[in-house]
Amino acid sequence: MKRPSCQRQLEYIDRIVDLNILRQKRKSLAIHILSDGQPVELRVPLRCPWSEIESFLESRLDWIHRAVLEVASRPREIPPGFKDREIHYFLGKPYPLKLSKGKGKVSVCDGFLNIQCSNHLDEEKVSKQLDKFYKSSSLAIYEERIEVCVADFPVFIRPSGLRVRKMKSRWGSCSQNGEICLNTLLIQKPLAAIDFVITHELCHLIHFGHNKKFYALLDRAMPSWRESELLLSSKSEPFQHFLF
Ligand SMILES: [Zn+2]
Repeated sequence: MKRPSCQRQLEYIDRIVDLNILRQKRKSLAIHILSDGQPVELRVPLRCPWSEIESFLESRLDWIHRAVLEVASRPREIPPGFKDREIHYFLGKPYPLKLSKGKGKVSVCDGFLNIQCSNHLDEEKVSKQLDKFYKSSSLAIYEERIEVCVADFPVFIRPSGLRVRKMKSRWGSCSQNGEICLNTLLIQKPLAAIDFVITHELCHLIHFGHNKKFYALLDRAMPSWRESELLLSSKSEPFQHFLF
């Protein structure tokens, strides 16, 4: 098993990142972001001087910060359960499930996500019902938000189409023919986060990669995008604001 030669913390704006520095038989320095909640690994040559390690870290602080946020904002691998009163999110707000036997209707009402299901004790069936609801509501809401984002965009651009899909590792993507694809699970996030992903994809319709021009356009289109990006990684509203 590899042992960290040194552990330390990196401070950047309002975030502290745990770091393991591993000395290895290698020629160059490399940063590895493993998964959310795990320390970032910095792999360095056995005899690399500390001054070199420090300046390497200094020059990449912004990149590390961004990469850690990106990993934290990926959709969670382990989904919550689908029993009565379990919490699920819709447009950034937490709702307990209220399950009943019925004909497959889902609605948000009186602070609950009401799900009628042929067998409401079957978690897989409930989950499918909720997925259907997320999909149908995401299509309608994303179309509306695209209109808002297109109107606010500094350059005239319009996606050629919209597709929605449940995805495990990304919030959105765009194709070469100008079509935008958005994750149906994004509907769990606040509108500002949805607008951020749409605006991000609109920028990709002009600049393909995440280069300087891309970020300059994103800054113009949505000056507060960094705050909206943070909403993607949080569960949104804290539970204490929530009444059963
Ligand atoms: Zn992108």
